[in-house]
Amino acid sequence: MTSRKIEVLSPRLANQIAAGEVVERPASVVKELIENCLDAGATRIDIDIEQGGVKLIRVRDNGRGIGKDDLPLALARHATSKVYSLDELEALNSLGFRGEALASVASVSRLTLTSKPAAQDTAWQVSAQGRDMAVDLTPAAHTDGTSVEVRDLFFNTPARRKFLRTEKTEFNHLEEVVKRQALARFDVGFSLSHNGRTIHALRPAATPAEQQRRIAQLLNPDFMNNALVIETERAGLTMTGWVGLPTFSRSSADMQYFFVNGRVVRDKVIAHAVKQAYRDVLYNGRHACFVLYLELDNAAVDVNVHPTKHEVRFRDQRLVHDFLFSQLHRALAEYRPDGQSLTAD
Ligand code: ADP
Ligand code: MG
Repeated sequence: MTSRKIEVLSPRLANQIAAGEVVERPASVVKELIENCLDAGATRIDIDIEQGGVKLIRVRDNGRGIGKDDLPLALARHATSKVYSLDELEALNSLGFRGEALASVASVSRLTLTSKPAAQDTAWQVSAQGRDMAVDLTPAAHTDGTSVEVRDLFFNTPARRKFLRTEKTEFNHLEEVVKRQALARFDVGFSLSHNGRTIHALRPAATPAEQQRRIAQLLNPDFMNNALVIETERAGLTMTGWVGLPTFSRSSADMQYFFVNGRVVRDKVIAHAVKQAYRDVLYNGRHACFVLYLELDNAAVDVNVHPTKHEVRFRDQRLVHDFLFSQLHRALAEYRPDGQSLTAD
């Protein structure tokens, strides 16, 4: 058999392969775009969706923007303003760092990026049509901040497109992403519309009462009336949030929100610790509800584990596990169904 010649992938194909990891469906695009807004210091994020995100995803923010000269670079692979060195990667405090999201999305959609930093007089725009990152820089109208418009997702990758579900299912996934981000960042206002209809309009929530209102609005309104407040700290670990009473369990694990340093996280260590804490008070097959925030030193957690960044690795897994378990277990044990709830510390 003759051997096949080895060739370096074209940038376009390399991006489309990378997109396979990062861009699974419209919801993944929305997640990446919102993370970029948050990294840009936005206090307001407006999301417009058409046809479950397949036809259009538009995300607009009031963040610090991208300068004219940097605009084409923003769409290039491995181009980022967030990490310049390994040291920075290890003490990361941004959500993004791989410099892959925009390049990946641009390679499988028709993408337009418009931006205006406050210091620049006018806005500029670049676009890519799933081709070889060919971009033309044109002046545009835009207030301070950035808009990313993603049209016709997967128009040039039919195999991917085939895996998309109904418009409703795709929108549900996408709405879940927005919910998670809105729970992660009370200080940011969010709006979400679908086919011209407003689904969520959330103003920044500064006070505890406003935060609870946001949670009630996004989750089951009964949750707040059936939750214990958690506020506890030990050995550099801080946990705050709300955990559902055992009497407020669910048949699936669909109301479990955990955030590590502001990042939406799904993690086996965390899941196990929570499950153990509830073991004696929940019936088999029932699932706890919780919205919990864990804060720890950025250097104690590695986020560079998976391209979608849903997973993290704790430097000291035992410490984190024991902290979560003991604090939640105690809060649940101290709760008296007949009277007042006692918070952990
Ligand atoms: P990463 O977020 O990993 O850096 P992305 O491909 O998501 O990679 O974005 C590339 C770069 O484009 C970012 O590093 C940032 O400089 C810029 N950028 C993207 N979105 C925004 C935004 N909404 N506001 C300001 N800058 C942005
Ligand atoms: Mg990013």
